[in-house]
Amino acid sequence: MNSQFSILNSQTPRVALKVDCDTLEGTLEGVPRLLEIFAARSIRATFYFTLGPDRSGVAIRRVLTQRGFLAKMIRSRAPSLYGWRTMLYGTLLPAPRIGARAAEVLHAAARAGHDTGVHGWDHVGWHDRLTRMSREGIAREYGAAHAEYLRIFGVPARSSAAPGWAADARSLEVESERSLLHTSDTRGGAPFFPKAGERTLPTLEIPTTLPTLDETLAWPSLRDDAAQRARFRGAVRGTEVHTIHAEVEGRSKSALFEQILDDWRADGVAFPTLAELAREALAHRDRIPSRAVSWTRLPGRGGRVATGWPEAAG
Ligand SMILES: [Zn+2]
Repeated sequence: MNSQFSILNSQTPRVALKVDCDTLEGTLEGVPRLLEIFAARSIRATFYFTLGPDRSGVAIRRVLTQRGFLAKMIRSRAPSLYGWRTMLYGTLLPAPRIGARAAEVLHAAARAGHDTGVHGWDHVGWHDRLTRMSREGIAREYGAAHAEYLRIFGVPARSSAAPGWAADARSLEVESERSLLHTSDTRGGAPFFPKAGERTLPTLEIPTTLPTLDETLAWPSLRDDAAQRARFRGAVRGTEVHTIHAEVEGRSKSALFEQILDDWRADGVAFPTLAELAREALAHRDRIPSRAVSWTRLPGRGGRVATGWPEAAG
């Protein structure tokens, strides 16, 4: 029996790679590097693109005002991970529109055979403000992102991943009004149908099950790359979903990411796409549980994330 995906039984250990692209620099520089890394290993992944304004520089405000976040920034060396230009967008530099500036890179990911989907419109605005947004505001944000995706690709997105894993019953309900194959908005546990009050929503949610590298880099127990590799190598039990960031694994941490991938390949790990996992789960629709979504905190991550399985998220 598989620990994370009780409805997805596989003899082979599997990791679905979910690539979140949060910033313009990450998309323009990190995605092409990741495409090379995946092509060299015949791995297919699922890319999620933030399509609206890159206001990452707003993070600077947090450095100045939040002691906890400053500590996290220093520990995870965010300036070297993300680059100073990205840190200034939306504050000292105007916020560029990612979809408009990076359309060629988005097409290149799709041409290389990867799945693609929507990672919100304004990444920083979404995870900072979701709980204070009206339902109309949520619909506007998703509407803008999906319209831009349609403009760039000529077809509607089939899946969506919430920026910063910020999701609640309202945002999941808004997404369920689109004909998506699945969402990937939450952390921890097996796929489920989210609940909005008494209602069970029709869109399958596939959580991220492993900690992310930008989190584990802030874990005091993992002091060097060897410790990071060992942690990820030992973490695959059955079928896992691993979120990486174009800004991190596609840039300053690409060599470490390649080592993690090669360790997994040596162990016989297979790399399905999220759409493949979704279709596999939906073939047994009656066995998929429905779960309410709540907020939780994870080691190494500033701010809260959504989970349907609080007992599995940490
Ligand atoms: Zn993101």
